[in-house]
Amino acid sequence: DIANAGQTILIVKLVLIGDSGTGKTTFVKRHLTGEFEKKYIATLGVEVHPLNFTTNLGQMQFDIWDTAGQEKAGDIRDGYYINAQCGIIMFDVTTRVTYKNVPNWHLNLIRVCGNIPIVLCGNKVDVKERMVRARSITFHREKNLQYYDVSAKSNYNLEKPFLWLARHLVGNPTLEFVTAPALGPPEAQVNMALIEPYRQKMHDTAQVPLPGEDNA
Ligand code: GDP
Ligand code: MG
Repeated sequence: DIANAGQTILIVKLVLIGDSGTGKTTFVKRHLTGEFEKKYIATLGVEVHPLNFTTNLGQMQFDIWDTAGQEKAGDIRDGYYINAQCGIIMFDVTTRVTYKNVPNWHLNLIRVCGNIPIVLCGNKVDVKERMVRARSITFHREKNLQYYDVSAKSNYNLEKPFLWLARHLVGNPTLEFVTAPALGPPEAQVNMALIEPYRQKMHDTAQVPLPGEDNA
């Protein structure tokens, strides 16, 4: 409960998962305070980045767990997931197989953590050649996850996953971030002329019910 603004700090564990090379470490390192205060857990080979957000309901801290690359060998231990209160699953919009593997990551996460708030992020949307088609991104709808296009390199939508998770963890949709987190300077640009048709196609796709979904 973060009702007493400024007094209580809500601290939550967030696990960042997805295929190797999707940009997880780049994404978490964009947040400068977390990068400055990160801690290494040698026994698990994990870097924990504490990210602080000031919200209209009080202080909130996401301890973001990032692997030291063990996912490359498919070797993520249960200790990585245990007690996670929320998660981000990342894929790379320029590499189809990283989207294909999303259900496996999701299964591993909920096997240990149960029904926690999870955001699916398609990273690298600054790249012109998107290989994962908008129409094919439906997994989040089947599993009630939130989806965001992001670009770690250009800081595009970086705070969106955290805002959605914060609202769901606190159970208050009126939660807002009061101050923007400090981010590293952008190293790429997102071309909105490319983003918009994609967004539109995802929107159109969402109007069509999935197999077994209610038409209402
Ligand atoms: P991880 O294995 O998931 O932690 O991925 P890394 O953060 O190590 O990133 C893998 C590669 O993708 C690196 O070469 C990054 O520079 C690149 N990368 C990460 N995020 C982005 C992005 O938003 N846009 C582009 N174009 N490249 C990115
Ligand atoms: Mg990494």
